[in-house]
Amino acid sequence: MAQRPIYLDSHATTPVDPRVVEAMLPFFTEHFGNPASLTHSYGWEAEAAVQQARETLATAINASPEEIVLTSGATEANNLAIKGVAEAYFAKGRHMITVQTEHNAVLDPCAYLETLGFEVTYLPVQADGLVDLDTLAKALRDDTVLVSVMAANNEIGVLQPLAEIGALCRDRAILFHSDAAQAIGKVPLDVQAMGIDLLSLTAHKVYGPKGIGALYVRRRNPRVQLAAQLHGGGHERGMRSGTLYTPQIVGFAKAVELGLGEMEPEGQRLTTLRDRLWDQLQSLAGVHLNGHPSQRLPGNLNVSFTGVDGQALLLGLRSTVALSSGAACSTASTAPSHVLKALGHDDALAYASLRFGLGRWTTEAEIDQVAAAVVTTVQALRTK
Ligand SMILES: *Cc1c(COP(=O)(O)O)cnc(C)c1O
Repeated sequence: MAQRPIYLDSHATTPVDPRVVEAMLPFFTEHFGNPASLTHSYGWEAEAAVQQARETLATAINASPEEIVLTSGATEANNLAIKGVAEAYFAKGRHMITVQTEHNAVLDPCAYLETLGFEVTYLPVQADGLVDLDTLAKALRDDTVLVSVMAANNEIGVLQPLAEIGALCRDRAILFHSDAAQAIGKVPLDVQAMGIDLLSLTAHKVYGPKGIGALYVRRRNPRVQLAAQLHGGGHERGMRSGTLYTPQIVGFAKAVELGLGEMEPEGQRLTTLRDRLWDQLQSLAGVHLNGHPSQRLPGNLNVSFTGVDGQALLLGLRSTVALSSGAACSTASTAPSHVLKALGHDDALAYASLRFGLGRWTTEAEIDQVAAAVVTTVQALRTK
């Protein structure tokens, strides 16, 4: 079999850490009980494991276990937060605020609410991808019920100033939601210090399994009301029905625990590798770093190349490196990245961009190999 390309698409998904797989395995076969079966030990074992996982997840974000609502991932968590708040606070107001660079799992529920008569403000970002706090403050209204700003961008890795945004919302008694799918286990998150009322998480960007995530829902100061979007057996305190997926939940918690435990050294390692890649790419003329140079995820580098065809660039690199020019969901479509367009790029430059997502097993040798391939490919395309 031909050697597979180097994997630098960690923002799309990550492999499951073998330590996570090991933690999950007993819950498929041995401890297979339904955590909601409280009449026998099969159920108790599963329930205890879920409770333990809930505690781990809560501790990771400085919340309490009862505030964790388990979901199928961040898409569902975002939908539950946004639609759930819209429905529960309908009488208070019908205005929401989000940002142009958000993931589609935030933008699309917002667009859906607009069809129901809600009003949504999509804030622009500055050239470095950061939200301007004055612009946000001016957009807050008496009928604003929710502000949704992501923790870390999935394309340009930019880390938004959550604590400052949380403080602004708190002043006006407006709920603050953040999509932290890319941030959990990689950068510190603290729902108390950051004034976050709802926080979306997922496992599969942090070396956990796909199909599991959570929504943190604040229980005091204030107690967030949420209308369920999935109705059934009343699981998760009525906010999200459906039998709990014990192996995935155990794996999710293990992945977050590992990410947190290794956060500092791994962050430094990835930053060093990322900077090494950027240094080498700068031997080319006409390269442009997308997003804030330092206020970004350690493993993220997003670069635009002037004067090359984006499609040809990806094609030329395909056998060496697995990456994309934008979000996984938008690579299937032909539209240029809405995130890069929000930075002010025209279509051509947005297409001629590469998102490098370094991960836990990325090596220095791989980075050098990828950098050399990108330099050669860009040069070849430019002389054509
Ligand atoms: C991956 C991602 C999502 C979707 O998460 P799933 O768990 O795959 O549903 C949402 N938001 C951001 C920022 C992401 O990176």
